[in-house]
Parts: sequence; C-alpha cells; structure tokens
Amino acid sequence: MNDEFFSALIGALNQLETAVSDEATKKFGLYADMLIEKNKFLNLTAITNPQEVAVKHFADSLAVLSFIDIKPSAHVADVGTGAGFLGVPLLIARQDLNISLIDSTNKKLQFRKEACTHMGINPKIKHIRAEDAGKNPLYREKYDVVVSRAVADLKVLSEYCLPLVKPGGIFVSYKGEAEKELKEAKNAIAKLSGRAEATYEYELSDFGKKTLIIIRKISQTSPKYPRSSTQISKNPL
Ligand code: SAM
Repeated sequence: MNDEFFSALIGALNQLETAVSDEATKKFGLYADMLIEKNKFLNLTAITNPQEVAVKHFADSLAVLSFIDIKPSAHVADVGTGAGFLGVPLLIARQDLNISLIDSTNKKLQFRKEACTHMGINPKIKHIRAEDAGKNPLYREKYDVVVSRAVADLKVLSEYCLPLVKPGGIFVSYKGEAEKELKEAKNAIAKLSGRAEATYEYELSDFGKKTLIIIRKISQTSPKYPRSSTQISKNPL
C-alpha cells in the first residue's frame, strides 16, 4: 500500500486518539492491498481510493475502541461484515478478542477466509442470517459486544443484533445521523430488552459526522424475538 494510505490512516487514528502497533498498521496495508486487488473481480467495496479505504474502512472500524473499553478476550460479533468491516480491523488491532464475522451472503466469504489466512488472524466466519443466529442456542445471548455498520435501519438492526448480546453486554451501531433512527427504534429496543445508553459523535478527516449508538442489553430477550426475516422486514417493531 502507498504512503498516502498510511498517512491518511495515521491522521484518522490520531483524530480518534487510538494507537495501533506497527505490526497492525502493516497488516491493514496488506488487507487493503488484497481488498483493492480482488475488488477488480469481485464486488467487495465501492470505496477503492487508498486514502478513503484507510479512513472509511480501517480507521472507522476502530472507532469503537476509542469510546468503549472492550475487555480482554471478549466475545464480539460483527453482524453484516461484508468484506470484513468492522471485524477484521478490530481483530488485527486487538488479537485477544474472540471475533465472529457474521454475514448472510456467501459472496464475500472466500475473500474473508483468504484474507484472514494471509493476515494470520483467525476469526470465526459464519455464513448465517443474523436473525437465524439469534434463534440458535449456539449464538443467542453469547456475545459481550455486537457491532454493525451499514446493514439496516436501527429498528430492524436491533432485532437482528440484540438477541445475540448477553444480558449486560452492548450492541454498538455505527450510523451517520443517530437522532431520527434512535427515535424510530425506541419501541423496538425496549421490546428486545435493550436500553439506549449513549451516543458518541466523531469525525474522520473531512468525511462528515459519524455516530456510535450504544445500546445496553438489560435482561434476556423474549423468546418471541427475533421473528422471521419476512416479519422483521414487513412489520418492523
Ligand atoms: N459492514 C460492512 C461495511 O460496513 O463495509 C458491509 C456492509 S454491506 C452494505 C451489508 C452487509 O450486510 C452485506 O454483506 C449483507 O450480506 C449483510 N446482511 C444484510 N442483512 C443481513 C442479515 N440479516 N444477517 C446477516 N448479514 C446481513
């Protein structure tokens, strides 16, 4: 990866007041190389300019680390990971974490597997819909932290993600603007046994305002949820 990538990355990480090791920085460069190369044949990302990849994919993925103290060895799920964002940069930066990359489509699965092997990291890679995982005892209420970016509206996303969170754990939703979505999702969050706890705003380079919405799981989610994919999309809570 070129110098512009690394200086954009370091600038954005400084804005976030987050430091990563030289080894992690090198791996971000390798992952970005693979992403841009494979993107010529696979539709992995719309972002291909190295500086934008550095800021919007890598630095942005790490934003959660500058606001939330994720405990060592915590179980973290990235719902709708796509080409591995947010979970891959998080695991590169925090190799102690137990990260699961969850996505419903197979399309980018091979890329995620190959890239992680190349990076020497070993996340659990799950090809499953989040709402199916949320009904499966292997995944339901098994995660300390669930993160998700660019997957669905908060009310729909809450039904995908909150059933996966352990009581006492958190769901972190990466959004641009938070206020409207939070208002519309209030009912859904309460029904799923969550409570909106905080919002954190940040800006990376001049790419606009971003917000992390933190939702605490206060007790077990009713077995009624998550509902089927069709019910969730046709009739959001
Ligand atoms: N999170 C990545 C990012 O920020 O670059 C990818 C975002 S991409 C726009 C949305 C991803 O969410 C797609 O890979 C899609 O397959 C996945 N997705 C959508 N609905 C899902 C669901 N119900 N369960 C699991 N994955 C889902």
